[in-house]
Amino acid sequence: MRTATGTTVIRNGQLIDGNGGPPIVDGVVMINDGRISYAGPLAGMPSERVPETTIDAHGGTILPGLIESHFHPTYFDVAALEDLDIKYPVEYVTLLAAANARLALHCGYTAARSGGSLFNIDVWLKKAIESDLMPGPRLASSGREICGVGGLMDWNPDFRKISMEGLVLLVNGADEARAAVRKLVKDGIEWVKTYPTGDAAAPDANDHHTLCMTFEEMHAVVETAHNHGLKVTGHCRATAGIKNALLAGYDAIEHGTFIDDESIELLLKRNVPCVPALYFEHASIQRGPEFGMSQRVIDGHRETLEGGAESARRILAAGGRLGMGGDYGFAWNPHGDYARELTFFVEYVGLRPLEVLSCATKTGAEILGRQEEIGTLERGKLADVLVVDGDVVANIKILENRSNFIAVMQGGIIKSGRIAKQKSPYDAHL
Ligand SMILES: [Zn+2]
Repeated sequence: MRTATGTTVIRNGQLIDGNGGPPIVDGVVMINDGRISYAGPLAGMPSERVPETTIDAHGGTILPGLIESHFHPTYFDVAALEDLDIKYPVEYVTLLAAANARLALHCGYTAARSGGSLFNIDVWLKKAIESDLMPGPRLASSGREICGVGGLMDWNPDFRKISMEGLVLLVNGADEARAAVRKLVKDGIEWVKTYPTGDAAAPDANDHHTLCMTFEEMHAVVETAHNHGLKVTGHCRATAGIKNALLAGYDAIEHGTFIDDESIELLLKRNVPCVPALYFEHASIQRGPEFGMSQRVIDGHRETLEGGAESARRILAAGGRLGMGGDYGFAWNPHGDYARELTFFVEYVGLRPLEVLSCATKTGAEILGRQEEIGTLERGKLADVLVVDGDVVANIKILENRSNFIAVMQGGIIKSGRIAKQKSPYDAHL
């Protein structure tokens, strides 16, 4: 991805560097050739360079670009589980994924970790974004997901003769788990996404207390993935599924809904990050009835929301790490609403805004494995910066509305926001 040339100064705002400390009241970020050369109080700004460009934050907030840690670029207002794989052909899903990536960048998300994608669209999406062919967050890709046969992602009975080959690789036993990872290795993915447990969405055979993979399958996935330098994560709701994942050597946990003390200890021992994705549960409860969701499913989402919120609080209180990401792409939880996750963590889960912002920037970069390059506003890092008109600490909700963004920058280049030069006619409907 290209970086800017020359010197830019962003000034006249409070500076949040992403490390979780209090904001610097009269903050400045200086950028040279796309990288941060200074981030701190105005009084300490080096004076030897005269900036070609000055960005006025209008007394608002200067913070790192947001990072979505559970991004499904190929989900497209899915209204039923069945829609996930067969609603559209791969050609159209690829175009939809490109539109979702562009939207995420406009929403202030300068990086994202895929939480699973149809085929390996996200691998090629990443290539197109990195080659500046199209706008989008810096991506870490996952490609197809892995689930046990008969598990959460294997819902089509055989008589329908519909496979799930676009979205998942279904496995029976450790050998098939290894074979599935080897396929993903060739696809060029970075994170292997698995389904150790079920979900409230499938109450009949694969609810949130059901296991969808064996420990042996999960261990085979980890062993093979780590051998090839890939990381492993998984959809983990049931207590036993979380524990299996941590014992098998998972590098991250998605949801971590019903975590117990033993698993918190295991999690802390290797400092494994967890991405709760809670707003999805809330949206399912609120809007599920509009989409024909049964009361049983909604009750399940209520249970996973309360369990997940409690687990998130406990993980953070114990000194663990949380990433912010939200399973956006369902009809009741559409792409573009990403920052609602942040508001929800402040208003419902009870975290402090600065904690949430640190989860959504610094921890996100760590999950992507790019903490040396992005995630905080510090000297030497790429200038992925969000300049917001308003006090994000006093009211985190202002991040939900893109019209509050003065600038969204990647590598010092202004890609979106009020002062962005190029306005695409295709952005009008987003
Ligand atoms: Zn997901």
